[in-house]
Parts: sequence; structure tokens; C-alpha cells
Amino acid sequence: MSAVAVDQLIRPHGGVLVPRAGVRPENLTLSEVRLTPRELSDLDMLASGALSPLTGFMGQADYETVVESMRLANGLPWALPVCLAVAEAPKGDRVVLADQGGRPLAVLDVEEVYSYDKEREAERCFRTTDGEHPGVAQLYAQEQLYLAGPVTVFERLEPEFPQLHKDPADTRALFAERGWKRVVGFQTRNPIHRAHEYLTKCALETVDGLLVHPLVGATKSDDVPVDVRVKAYDVLTEGYYPADRVVVSAFPAAMRYAGPREAIWHAICRKNYGCSHFIVGRDHAGVGTYYGTYDAQLIFDELEPHELDIEPMFFEHSFWCKVCGQMATAKTCPHGGDDHVFLSGTKVRELLSEGQLPPEEFTRPEVAEVLIEAYRGG
Ligand SMILES: [Zn+2]
Repeated sequence: MSAVAVDQLIRPHGGVLVPRAGVRPENLTLSEVRLTPRELSDLDMLASGALSPLTGFMGQADYETVVESMRLANGLPWALPVCLAVAEAPKGDRVVLADQGGRPLAVLDVEEVYSYDKEREAERCFRTTDGEHPGVAQLYAQEQLYLAGPVTVFERLEPEFPQLHKDPADTRALFAERGWKRVVGFQTRNPIHRAHEYLTKCALETVDGLLVHPLVGATKSDDVPVDVRVKAYDVLTEGYYPADRVVVSAFPAAMRYAGPREAIWHAICRKNYGCSHFIVGRDHAGVGTYYGTYDAQLIFDELEPHELDIEPMFFEHSFWCKVCGQMATAKTCPHGGDDHVFLSGTKVRELLSEGQLPPEEFTRPEVAEVLIEAYRGG
């Protein structure tokens, strides 16, 4: 394929990318706010333009409409608050934002400090007020006030995987260079087994390219460690995907586990990276039994058709069917469960920790080897 112009790709959310990277101000004798891992991820995404059209942490008008109706105050769809919690109003109209060790990363020009109702935010955004939910637990542990205003990021976080670090402008340039206009994004926080390989390839059959976009920000401690996952993505894509049809890059967001609303938020971010399509599987960004199987797909109906512009692609769980002799889903295979190769997550972990390869119909052996290696080391 020959190169296309960057402006032939899907437009960013709100029309243009607004990366908030800038130069370090000379005088940094300002009061300092230290960010949590989730807030640091959000800051980095503001720096890169991944959260366009946001220019900083949300003010009250945007916060209220987002929580209430999944829209910014100007009506543009936006599914989750991007807020900075502080214990007290800072002195002065500018503060330094620092990492947990106190290294200054950005300045925020203070526009507002406002209080918020944690239970209401939990109920609206997470659909539960249960403090056992990991996202809700984080919300409840936050300070009591939100500090709002535009940010200027002068020091980016060092990417854990420099080779996978690509900002929205980078992925857009890469897609254009490869001649891709239609690109499907795949969000994951797990190793890719055959089931998800199948989904990504079904999607890729209908578009020009695939962005495998694993989330590398903070996750629950029982998720597979990110360095292991990255190794597994490498062996899989090298062995089983055409190199000129796939890009693997890191998505620096932290998980909120907000299920349906996070599915929309994930789609909007991927639109900024240049994806025209986005895969939404069952229980996307869910945790435990807080969300119904199809909630993360159904929520897209709450927006007007094409209002998001990026096209969600909905998928069922897939499996290897011994009778069909191929991967399939309940939509494409008429056979019963006994004919399907299905392993629970628990069973897979059990096999791997015993050094046994799961069946090849479930996981590619190269991927299984990487996971077994990690279990041995860990
Ligand atoms: Zn079948």
C-alpha cells in the first residue's frame, strides 16, 4: 500500500490533537502536588494528546455533565472523569505536579477547586458503591477536593518499554506511512490467547491495519505482569501476524475497571491514536461480577449513531471447535460445549504453574512458553 496523508485518517476527538507538552518554567518555587499512579497516567496522556480535547484536569462543569450524562459541558461524548484530587486548596494560582518521589513533571494553572460526592461518582461511573470494587476503592481513598485547570507537562515519564512508546501523533504518522486509513484498535491487559487472536484477525480482515494496544499503566496486582505480557505479544505477532499489518504499542492508561463507561473512554482515546474501529469484547474493562456480559457493548447505544465517529466492533467469546476444525463463536458454530476447547483462567494458571503447556488450540506454544518461564522465575 502507498502512503496516505495524515489528514485522511479519522479526526481526533473534538477535531484536533491538543498535546500539553511544553517548556519548563524558570521559577518552580510553587506549591507541589504529588500525583497517584492513576493521576500520573492521566497526566502523561494529557501530555501526549491521548485525552484530546482535554487540556488539563477537569473543572466542575465538565465533571458534572460527564458524571451525569457522559458528556463534556460542550456536549461532546466523554465517559469518565479525569480529575486530580487534593486535600486542600493550594496557595497561589499555579502549582507544580510531581511524581511520588517529588520529581517535578508539570505545572497546573489553577482555575477551580471544588468538592465532589464520591458515592455519586461511584454510582454513576462504576454502577456500584461497593468499596470492594478496585476502581471504587481507589475513588474512596482519594482526597476530598478536585483541583482543576490546564496543565503544561515539561518532563514526561520514562516509558517502561521505550520500543513500544508511541504518542497519538506517532501512531498517526505510522498509519499514514503504511497507507492505512482504516485501523482497528485492540485494548488488552492480558496475554493474547487464541480466542483474542481470532477476534483481532476477524477485525483485521475488514480494515487496513491492526493496533495491538496493551494497557501498561497500573492494573490490579493479580493481572499478569506487564513485562511478561509484552514478551508474549512479541512472540505472537512475530510468528502469526504479517509485519506490515500490525503495530504493537503501549497504551499508558491506568485501569479503572469501570466496565461499560471505560469501554467508551478506551474507544475515544484510541480515536485520538488514529483508530477508526475499536474491538469491544464481552465484559470489556470489567472486574468480578459487577457488570453484565454485554453491558460494555450496549452502552454504545446511549450515544447517537456515529457521534463517537470511531466504530465499535462487538465480539462474542470465541473458542476452538473440534468439529468445525477452527476458531468460532456461538454466532458461527452450531456445535455444543463438549466439542469446544475451553479452559478457565484458573485452569490455565494451574497448568502453567506446573510447567505444562495448555492445548495448542487454546494458546500458541510460543506464548505458553513465555508464560511458563515467568511462572518459573516468579
Ligand atoms: Zn463447531
